[in-house]
Amino acid sequence: MRHNRTGIMATIDNILAKNEFTKEDIIYLLSTQGEEKNMLFEKSAAVKSATVGNKVYYRGLIELSNACAKDCLYCGIRKSNAKVERYNLSDSDVLAAAQFAYENRYGSLAIQSGELKSPAFRRRITNLLKQIKELSKGELGITISLGEQDEETYQEWFDAGAHRYLLRIEVSNPALYHRYHPADHSYEERLQCLKILHKIGYQVGTGVMVGLPFQTLADLADDLLFMKAMDVHMVGMGPYVEHKDTPLYEFRSQLLPQEERFTLTLKMITILRLMMPDINMVAATAMQAIDPLGREKALKVGANILMPNITPGQHRDDYKLYENKPCTDDAAEDCKNCLEARVHIAGHEVGYGEWGDSKHFLNGKKP
Ligand code: SF4
Repeated sequence: MRHNRTGIMATIDNILAKNEFTKEDIIYLLSTQGEEKNMLFEKSAAVKSATVGNKVYYRGLIELSNACAKDCLYCGIRKSNAKVERYNLSDSDVLAAAQFAYENRYGSLAIQSGELKSPAFRRRITNLLKQIKELSKGELGITISLGEQDEETYQEWFDAGAHRYLLRIEVSNPALYHRYHPADHSYEERLQCLKILHKIGYQVGTGVMVGLPFQTLADLADDLLFMKAMDVHMVGMGPYVEHKDTPLYEFRSQLLPQEERFTLTLKMITILRLMMPDINMVAATAMQAIDPLGREKALKVGANILMPNITPGQHRDDYKLYENKPCTDDAAEDCKNCLEARVHIAGHEVGYGEWGDSKHFLNGKKP
């Protein structure tokens, strides 16, 4: 149906005035351009400011190891990529990074690794969590992102001090999930893990990649409805950035230009901010891989979390899930200064020394 200008404005006004979006509404919003897109971004920025405020919270990111037992078809550190030099940080490196975060009042850490399942890995993480809690006198909040594990492991890590868990579904459509993963990767198991994390009491984060080959706007709308239905507390969404040493690279001719993937990601962030006003949302580093001001743009319109990389510099180049990853050769201190300036440019403040927990989680716990 064609609209005249007044008709278009009436449509966008009507959608933005709603409390709940239908799938068709979301597809409409994902398709907006020009003035309509600006209206979406402005509304999201206003909702963000009114609900989570203008503070940006840090999760100092420690990329523990790039060894992974899985083989996701889009990922640069998949186990079949023999070109990657594998590393595993020492415990003392991890603790030194945690000490840096504590001394610089980052408030929280995020520990991320390729997916490894073993009793030794489980014990190692438990010990590290306890030591980080001890060295920071309980002051550092801890997010972990260590893939699919069994319930006992999740519970042990929760009891040891981790209170947030990120497990991105990457794509919520099971048929598409199977196109991006080998046959032995189970969508159902991933879903089950998210449910267990909820049950244990973690603040649960998930997220998706935006702009994958074969993905439609209807799929992206379903992703947002999935996050709402799962009642997640935190979300990390980033544009899909292709990596040449992965099987999915073969389909690069089907991709949108990177700038369009970037804008689509901003739209996903803003629409989700309207759908779930009080969640935490990351301005993903992958945004900056496409646009030098990518994270600032995400903060302006709807995101409120940054994950400054505090992994010891010599290993940052080896943790490449995608290419053009920024800041891989900066020292953590440089990143700190550069990030604070970026946050200020975006008109925000850094919540130094604060956990900045998801309000959606805290509101859900109120009697
Ligand atoms: S996306 Fe995660 S689980 Fe999959 S191969 Fe990469 S690091 Fe491993």
